[in-house]
Amino acid sequence: MSEFPPDLPSPLFCDVSLPVPLDRPFTYSLPDAWRHRASVGARVLVPFGPRKMTGMIVRLHDTAPAVVAKPAERLLDEEPLLDSSLLSLARWIAAYYCSPLGEVLRTMTPLSGEVRKTKTLALTDSGRDAARQLLLGASSEETAVEILRLLEARPMSASYLLKKVKGADAALKGLDKRGWVSEESGVQTKDPLRIASARLRAEFERRPEAVKLPKAERELIAYLELHPGSHNLAQLEEHVRNASTAARALARRGLIALRPEAPAVLAGSMRPPHRLNAHQQAAFEAVAGAITTHEFVAFLLHGVTGSGKTEVYLRLIEEALRHERGALLLVPEIGLTPQVAGQFFHRFGDRVAILHSAFSGMERVEQWRRIRSGAASVVVGTRSGVFAPVQNLGLIIVDEEHDQSYKQEENPRYNGRDVSVVRARECRAAVVLGSATPSLETRYNAEKGKYRLVSMPERIERRPMPEVHIVDMRQEFLETKKQATFSRALSEAVKACIERREQAMLLLNRRGFSTFVACRSCGERIECQNCAVTLTWHKRDKRLLCHVCGYAEPVPQACPKCSSDHIYFLGTGSEKVEEELNQLFPGARVARMDRDTVTGRRDYENILHAFRDGDFDLLVGTQMIAKGHDIPNVTLVGLVNADVGLGMPDFRAAERTFQLLTQAAGRAGRGELPGLVYLQTINPEHYAVRCAAAQDYAKFYEKELEFRRLMRYPPFAALANVLVRHPQQEEAMRLAGEIGGLLDPAPEGIKVLGPAEAPVPKLKREFRYQLLIKSSSRQRLNEILGMLRRHALEQKWSATALVVDVDPLTLL
Ligand code: ADP
Ligand code: ZN
Ligand code: ZN
Repeated sequence: MSEFPPDLPSPLFCDVSLPVPLDRPFTYSLPDAWRHRASVGARVLVPFGPRKMTGMIVRLHDTAPAVVAKPAERLLDEEPLLDSSLLSLARWIAAYYCSPLGEVLRTMTPLSGEVRKTKTLALTDSGRDAARQLLLGASSEETAVEILRLLEARPMSASYLLKKVKGADAALKGLDKRGWVSEESGVQTKDPLRIASARLRAEFERRPEAVKLPKAERELIAYLELHPGSHNLAQLEEHVRNASTAARALARRGLIALRPEAPAVLAGSMRPPHRLNAHQQAAFEAVAGAITTHEFVAFLLHGVTGSGKTEVYLRLIEEALRHERGALLLVPEIGLTPQVAGQFFHRFGDRVAILHSAFSGMERVEQWRRIRSGAASVVVGTRSGVFAPVQNLGLIIVDEEHDQSYKQEENPRYNGRDVSVVRARECRAAVVLGSATPSLETRYNAEKGKYRLVSMPERIERRPMPEVHIVDMRQEFLETKKQATFSRALSEAVKACIERREQAMLLLNRRGFSTFVACRSCGERIECQNCAVTLTWHKRDKRLLCHVCGYAEPVPQACPKCSSDHIYFLGTGSEKVEEELNQLFPGARVARMDRDTVTGRRDYENILHAFRDGDFDLLVGTQMIAKGHDIPNVTLVGLVNADVGLGMPDFRAAERTFQLLTQAAGRAGRGELPGLVYLQTINPEHYAVRCAAAQDYAKFYEKELEFRRLMRYPPFAALANVLVRHPQQEEAMRLAGEIGGLLDPAPEGIKVLGPAEAPVPKLKREFRYQLLIKSSSRQRLNEILGMLRRHALEQKWSATALVVDVDPLTLL
């Protein structure tokens, strides 16, 4: 990769890509001490303005730049962190998503946690002289002498000195005044971890109750849950910081067991692999063929809910391993639970690495190393897992490919699913996009022959798809004269379900108790101070909460605008549904799952686990409960307000509603017992609702595609959302106007909508305007976006003022 093979003189300069908005590398000179060890793809610490920054070497050369290059300060990696194929993937992402390369590279490497910023004190030359004299003469200033003595031996951090020497603070100030010490900021890479000698093994026993554990203990528990089995304590030290201490504390709490080292026996409590049915077998063979022949092929695995996609994934991974190739499985953010991880450990043992954003920096670094060294050849990860340096990658699987969490909603705004396809092409690997409700884009790619379509149209063992009833809530209101959360039909079904000792899930798309608070006298709706969104009443917490920025305020006694006390609460949130269920079905055990009850990955698993174990009869929740779960005893699913999403000012509103309803309905009747679904709506005629009820993807696809074609939305045009934001409204308008001016008249091949107020015009104290830019030519779109970014740079806009979102998933 480097242009300088070992037998040539080593290079004088390196070009470094830094995580800054300026979209070009910076040239530094290489110090003699480590010039021969520098490599493309390794990180370096370099001075940048007044700061030090970590960047990545993207080129080594001998061409002196026009201005004198500053020396690079430290080499942080002895081996390149990214190989040439990942570097070229980075370049592709930077170009496609209009993002600075340095920011892309930073996103791709998990190691920022490894480098710690430090301040080190060292003696200056005069300080060194003084030290010699003072130390010879042993003068009166004892503290100062002690410090000089220590610093004479080696530079060290101020905090260490303060701890080590009593009264160091004052003495240091004196030394500093005399110019004898200097402070250097730098970074320290972690020392290789000390290995505790304990010959003990740790084993996960049970999950903690509600108690708050200290951080180290939490991390260890999370690790042990994701890595079932028995672990040597000394080795755990390598993965989890302070594992020994934490393990002993956890053992005292009875959450883990510590046993003397003995040959490990990992009992296989998990079920053996299933025999593939005919559809599964056909899907397997299609993809396996591509793995064998080493060609790039992209597949859409379209399998209805409960068709057994996971088993196909597992077989394919086995197949890749059999051909000595690595495999990568991406799952949605919320889908990577200990249970899923456990399945993979069970099949593939210690060849598995898990990459989860909830892991600590050290843990991620360790996994990354195992993957790069080839020790782990099966990687299961969330979005950024697509960058895992898997050796000889032969297979990438993207489960629930339509899931929104694959799109990163901050720079670089890449879609992990689409990046997967590009990566697979580069590695000549097979890529499988799996879903019961494929995104329009993916399905269209299959139609056009870009992807190969593989279908699994039936549930496992020919179990029937659930029976879905649409309940027209307008009709319900006319008949009952009551505005109720639950229709009569759904209430009766819930009652019957409880009596049969089966379980039900009730999905509601909003959390909180009431979704907005308004004044009956003047009509004022209470909004967030920072955002243009209404606040939601959270009854139990006795406060109004902004679901965007987290702002909270007490419930007002009177209207803030007209002082009337006719405040009322509208709309229904998950908290209210939970309360109503408790009233309607007094004996039933109700659990709730939404962002209020689930603050970490653990809560999510705890609630699901308890529900799966039958500790609850009913589970109420937001879309969190719609995803991927396989709970056999769930025979009823109620979609309380099926269509709230339809009103969103977003061209994907129908698609998202269809996906949510279909996925949620798919939770019912996955076991031996048939499933029943009630879908309450005020839009019973809408095609998204009708098609979801009929579980008719093909029909939905056809209708939706027609709409997209008519409106020239993706997949019929390349789309970008250009957002301009500023804390002052006039400024935001002015900047948006500038962009608007550059695009007026619209350049050839480009269609521009806006500038207009964004659907959420104010967010986190910033005013927002947006322009939607469409083009039938992706390249043309890309050029225009490049032009806009250059404009912002030349006009010295603040780094956050311009947001360019290519292939946006949400326009809010
Ligand atoms: P999907 O992800 O397609 O919705 P899952 O992969 O969760 O479906 O599979 C649904 C259920 O069917 C799981 O409980 C799984 O263990 C089971 N299953 C998968 N394949 C088979 C098979 N060949 N025979 C019997 N059961 C199977
Ligand atoms: Zn009022
Ligand atoms: Zn807010």
